[in-house]
Amino acid sequence: MLVDSHCHLDLIDPDLTSIETLLEDAAAQDVRHLLCVSVSLDNAPVVRALAARHAQVSASVGVHPNQTDGVEPTVPQLAALAQDPLIVAVGETGLDYHYGAEHADLQQARFRTHIRAAREVGKPLIVHMRSATDDTLRILAEERATDVGGVMHCFTEDWPTARRALELGFHISFSGIVTFKSAEPIRDAARQVPAERLLVETDAPYLAPVPFRGQQNRPAFVRQVADFVADLRGLSPAELDALVSRNFFALFPHAASKPISAPAAQPA
Ligand SMILES: [Zn+2]
Ligand SMILES: [Zn+2]
Repeated sequence: MLVDSHCHLDLIDPDLTSIETLLEDAAAQDVRHLLCVSVSLDNAPVVRALAARHAQVSASVGVHPNQTDGVEPTVPQLAALAQDPLIVAVGETGLDYHYGAEHADLQQARFRTHIRAAREVGKPLIVHMRSATDDTLRILAEERATDVGGVMHCFTEDWPTARRALELGFHISFSGIVTFKSAEPIRDAARQVPAERLLVETDAPYLAPVPFRGQQNRPAFVRQVADFVADLRGLSPAELDALVSRNFFALFPHAASKPISAPAAQPA
C-alpha cells in the first residue's frame, strides 16, 4: 500500500479524467490513500466533500500563500473548520516568495494564523516553502509549530535545510521534482532524511514526475516518485511503500480513523 500525501484532486481537469477514474488508476498502482489539500476557503468545502464521498480520500483546510483574492481566514474560523473529523490537517500554508514576494507581509500574517489554528485544534500543518526558507523556519519556531508538527510538502531544498525542518519536528515530503535531472541537492536530502520522517506526494495536477513530465499529474504517478526514492535509499518498492504509509498515518492519525460513511457536506 502506498499513500499520496499531497494532491489537489479537485484541481485536476475533469474533462480529462473523472475523480472515479483517478482513484481507480491510483488503486491499480496500490495507491490506497490520498490527502486532498485545500488552497482557499472557497475550495475547502469541495475538498471536504471529496473526503466525505470517498473512503480513501482525506482532506485539509487552509489558504495557500499565493492566494490573493477570496476571504482572508481568521484563527477562530480556521480552527472551527479544522475541528471537523474529516479534516486531518491545517494547510496548505507557508511562504512563497518565488511568486508572491510583494505579498510577503500578508503571507507571513496568514501563515501565523494557520499555525495558531493548528495548535488550537491539535492537528498537523501542511507547509509550502518556496524561496523563503529562513522566514518559514523562523515563523514555525516563533509560533511553536513543533507542538503540532506537520510536513514540509514538495520539498525542493538541500539536506542542511531539511535538517533544520527536521529539528522543528517536521516530516519531509518529496514530489516528482526529485526525479528531475537538475535535482541532485534534493536527491541528497531524500537519501538522508530519517526513515520515520519520510513521505512522498504528487502535488497533482502539478509537477508530473519523469517519465510523465509535461502531462497533467495524477495520484497514480506517486508510484514513480516512491520507486525513485526507494532506489535512492537502497530499499525495495515494497519496503518504501510500507515505510511512507506508516509515516503518513502516524503523522495524520485522523486519516487512519476516518469516518468512512460520513455524511456529504452541503453543496457550496
Ligand atoms: Zn504547495
Ligand atoms: Zn499543493
